[in-house]
Amino acid sequence: MISENFEQFLKTLEDCFPVEKIRRNFPLRKLTTYGVGGPAVFFLKVNSFTELEILLPVLRKYSVPLLVIGNGSNLLISDEGFKGFVIQLSGSFEEVAIENTTVRAGGAAKLPVVARKTANSGLSGFEWAVGVPGTVGGAVRMNAGGHGSDLAASLTEVKVADLSTEGADLFKLVPASDLGLSYRHSLIKDTDIVLEATLHLDIGEKEKSEDLLHEIVRWRRENQPGGQNSGSVFTNPEGDSAGRLIEIAGLKGFTVGSASVSKKHANFIQVEEGGKAQDVREVMKKVIERVEEVHSVTLVPETVFVGFERDSL
Ligand SMILES: Cc1cc2nc3c(=O)[nH]c(=O)nc-3n(C[C@H](O)[C@H](O)[C@H](O)COP(=O)(O)OP(=O)(O)OC[C@H]3O[C@@H](n4cnc5c(N)ncnc54)[C@H](O)[C@@H]3O)c2cc1C
Repeated sequence: MISENFEQFLKTLEDCFPVEKIRRNFPLRKLTTYGVGGPAVFFLKVNSFTELEILLPVLRKYSVPLLVIGNGSNLLISDEGFKGFVIQLSGSFEEVAIENTTVRAGGAAKLPVVARKTANSGLSGFEWAVGVPGTVGGAVRMNAGGHGSDLAASLTEVKVADLSTEGADLFKLVPASDLGLSYRHSLIKDTDIVLEATLHLDIGEKEKSEDLLHEIVRWRRENQPGGQNSGSVFTNPEGDSAGRLIEIAGLKGFTVGSASVSKKHANFIQVEEGGKAQDVREVMKKVIERVEEVHSVTLVPETVFVGFERDSL
């Protein structure tokens, strides 16, 4: 059952976009690396700034629940789905422009693409991102990182569409220092859409950077599982590793229905094709419980939960 507000919202959208562009009941599992989760009431791919400029005032006016999805590589969407409107940036938002040591990457640019392009241009400092299957927008929100670095190390500014305050400017340029970037955390809100990030990188040596990319890809293949997962499930507690704690607690291979703690890396949960988000939640709950019993440490999920009654476990 969709509310009157939603019906009005849809009517207005249908006046602005071709009807076939607005997908109803769209299966979100197709947009996540876990491959689980129910539908969104509406889904729209935004390919250009022109489309965005049409969409944003409508979104502000109706303030329907919104989810901006990147590559869905850090999301667990409930089996019931998301009772709101989902957008994904695409097309011109995937562009990456390099000028001297400044890189402008669209919100939908894929991190491995940015890592390879910058390395190929003789810039260093973004190699860490080659194995992170997210977008720039998702990486800003999560302050993604790895191999001793993170986005905060090179981010200087982001362009954001702010849907929260009617009357205020829709577009903001936010300096990285105002984003509260810390370990897998930023101040980006559900009502912010990251449209572009500006990075400052160092002049490096193309060959050295490409060797590093190669080494990172090799390391990931050797140490991380493939299949349907969303990378590290829990953040690392200060001075320790979540994977180590889970492994010592004897949980490698622990399974609920379609979801298991990976036997290769204990901080990954793998899901079978056609699996259930609820199984992943149950595995997470059990892991937290058992790690608390064994180590007296409470693990904190890195995964973003969508469409569940509570955002926490
Ligand atoms: C195999 C694997 C390995 C991984 N390794 C790492 C790793 O080494 N380090 C690491 O940090 N992470 C890792 N991850 C997790 C994930 O890739 C990162 O968190 C990534 O930054 C998420 O980007 P995304 O585009 O997929 O975001 P999504 O998962 O789609 O979304 C994550 C959050 O960002 C928000 N969001 C997405 N796009 C935008 C936007 N344009 N504007 C505003 N908000 C937005 C979403 O609403 C959501 O809140 C891994 C995941 C996998 C599957």
